[in-house]
Amino acid sequence: MDFVNRFGKWALVTGASSGIGEAFARKLAERKVNLVLVARREDRLNTLATQLQAQHQIEVRVVALDLTRDDFLPELIAQTDELEIGLLVNSAGELQAGHFLDHNLHAELKQLELNIRATVILTHYYGQKMRERKRGGIICLASIVGFAGVPSMASYSASKAYALTFAEGISRELRKDGVAVLALSPGPTSTEIWPKGATPSMLQRPDIVAEIALRKLGKRTTVVTGLLNKLIIFSLRFAPRWVNSMIFEKVVGGMFKNVEKPQPAEVGKS
Ligand code: NAP
Repeated sequence: MDFVNRFGKWALVTGASSGIGEAFARKLAERKVNLVLVARREDRLNTLATQLQAQHQIEVRVVALDLTRDDFLPELIAQTDELEIGLLVNSAGELQAGHFLDHNLHAELKQLELNIRATVILTHYYGQKMRERKRGGIICLASIVGFAGVPSMASYSASKAYALTFAEGISRELRKDGVAVLALSPGPTSTEIWPKGATPSMLQRPDIVAEIALRKLGKRTTVVTGLLNKLIIFSLRFAPRWVNSMIFEKVVGGMFKNVEKPQPAEVGKS
């Protein structure tokens, strides 16, 4: 069965203006899936839409939207409700790096609204439609940092742990309804998510991450991309959780040592 027959003609991709979300949009366009592209930067979405329509003769709809807004769902529904969304890719996400207590509380909460709340709302709405139609797919962007508590990205890694366990949990609930759910855990990937000055290593390519996910959707529930990342996650099973956090502390702390700290005036501002 080809991709369109399995999942339907339309996919909605959040975070499609850059990085892994954009890569998903490109890979889905290659599979002749029509697209709803969601993110805030409309100019980028329009450029991508024009390119994909011309290259692949598909329909593309752009919805420029801030997914941390309280009322984002009614606006999204108003712009897309006649479409049968068969695949939802929850890729929009952000990373607040550095020590938790140094962070601006408002920014910290926005991160959770995007990484968790938006994913829950979208999955609930489009998941119900898919269940009624007895077919569909949902991909949630977790991360290898979702497998442990990670110093210097404590809240971010907790939000990725949420994505991981949430997707794994609903995957079993929806299996009998013909809806495939995938918890996708990439390692460090070459995208715009990294703050200025960060020095991530072992970077994967977003197009490779997206391709692996689309191939595994419906076959696996949890996917860690890349052999080295798989080995890291496998090795975590043999150590106490505090040791895993300590190892991540060393690796991640090094990546962020040149990242500027927030200004004291901003600390705690909400
Ligand atoms: P990215 O290049 O920064 O992309 C993030 C996307 O989210 C952008 O399209 C951005 O678009 C969108 N976004 C940010 N804030 C938004 C908001 N308030 N409303 C709507 N859209 C918003 O980063 P990425 O690495 O591709 O991240 C994609 C996902 O992969 C995230 O969930 C991230 O946690 C996960 N991930 C990334 C890595 C990595 O190393 N890069 C590893 C594991 C998991 P606009 O700015 O135009 O809104």
